[in-house]
Amino acid sequence: MANWREKLNQVTQSTISKSKEVAEVAKLNVENGSLNQSMKGIYTEVGKYVLENGLLSEDESVAAWASKAADIKADIESNAERIKALKNVNTCPGCGAEVPKTSKFCDKCGTPIVVTSTEPLKEDEEVIDAEFSEASGEEKAAEEKAEPENGEAKQEEASGED
Ligand SMILES: [Zn+2]
Repeated sequence: MANWREKLNQVTQSTISKSKEVAEVAKLNVENGSLNQSMKGIYTEVGKYVLENGLLSEDESVAAWASKAADIKADIESNAERIKALKNVNTCPGCGAEVPKTSKFCDKCGTPIVVTSTEPLKEDEEVIDAEFSEASGEEKAAEEKAEPENGEAKQEEASGED
């Protein structure tokens, strides 16, 4: 009987210590999960710092990452511009809010919206380009018609010199 109790006691004790171990392992795993997250945060910050400040550009790997990052950044910016054009909004220079293109002031902070020189110019250019390519045939005809006038002017100049 005593032997049986002792055995049970041992089993209980080892069960308790097992569950303590399991709990501690779980706790340490959680702790390492959090520490690994912090580590990833530092890697990200370091990478950002290196790329944004153009550091270590002599290192081939860093140079390749920098070039990849520059491409991605350009894509992000071009998508953002496209989104703004599709949504017909400008970005407030004061607070970064999206403002309808018709607004002259930001709804949120009241900053005057200076129409960025690139966007409206681009639209104008596109319209002009389209009109130009469509009308190029007519323009050529008009130029041909205009030539005799130029000729006349030249003749007048020539006669003036005589
Ligand atoms: Zn604003």
